[in-house]
Amino acid sequence: MVREPVEAFIGLGANLGEPMAALRQALARLAELPYTELLAASGLYGSTPVDSSGPDYVNAVAWVRTRLTAPALLEALQHQEASAGRERPYRNAPRTLDLDLLLYGSARMEGPTLTVPHPRMTERAFVLLPLAEIAPHRVSDAELASVQGQGIWRLAG
Ligand code: AMP
Repeated sequence: MVREPVEAFIGLGANLGEPMAALRQALARLAELPYTELLAASGLYGSTPVDSSGPDYVNAVAWVRTRLTAPALLEALQHQEASAGRERPYRNAPRTLDLDLLLYGSARMEGPTLTVPHPRMTERAFVLLPLAEIAPHRVSDAELASVQGQGIWRLAG
């Protein structure tokens, strides 16, 4: 635990099974993390796969205030990913969930298991648009302009 709470941003994505339901459940679980408060969540966005193929993704960004250290927060996110992957609402139901630690306060760290800010976040419209929705001060106009043209759209709800 850290003494002073830190504001962090988490990127969420899913593209198999019922991605909208998976993301809503993941947001509910983030709100239940120990020593952590969910401050805001963006709406849900659809996006075409970047660097991969398959069905379109559903993405969102969450803003939390946490007393967990960055490695402890990442570990909690990985635990949540694993448990979402194990859930089987029906036989052979595909289900994936990807959780990325985008920003942890103003920290800059680079290690074998954790790099923040997330090294690819500024290349991705599916991170920058939902992030700009809830925290416009964390995204510059130049960054938004650089991802223009990537396939992303706002979903209902
Ligand atoms: P992926 O699930 O494909 O996005 O990659 C997860 C891997 O990236 C794990 O091995 C993490 O340890 C590593 N990683 C490094 N920095 C981060 C970060 N900021 N957020 C999430 N995973 C990270």
